Amino acid sequence: MRIEYDRDTCIGMFQCVAEWDAFERDVDAGKAVLVDAEEADEDRFVREVPEDAELDAKFAARACPVDAIAVYDDDGEQIV
Ligand code: SF4
Repeated sequence: MRIEYDRDTCIGMFQCVAEWDAFERDVDAGKAVLVDAEEADEDRFVREVPEDAELDAKFAARACPVDAIAVYDDDGEQIV
C-alpha cells in the first residue's frame, strides 16, 4: 500500500495527525509533514505504508477535509 500527500492542498487542520503517527505537525508552516516520505513532485510526497499501519493510513486519508491524502493498493488502484 502506498500513500500520497499533497502539501499544497493541505490547510493544516491536523486531523490526519490524530489518525496516523506518520503525519506530524509543522505548526509554523500550517502544514502536515509525512515522515519518511519522498517528494515525488513539487509538494507531492509519497511513501509505502507498513502492513500494520494500513488502517491508520486509511483513516488519515478519510479524515482530511480537503482530500490532500490518497491511498493506493499494490496494483496502483486508489482505495481512499
Ligand atoms: S488532515 Fe488534511 S488538511 Fe489537515 S493537516 Fe492533514 S493533510 Fe493537511
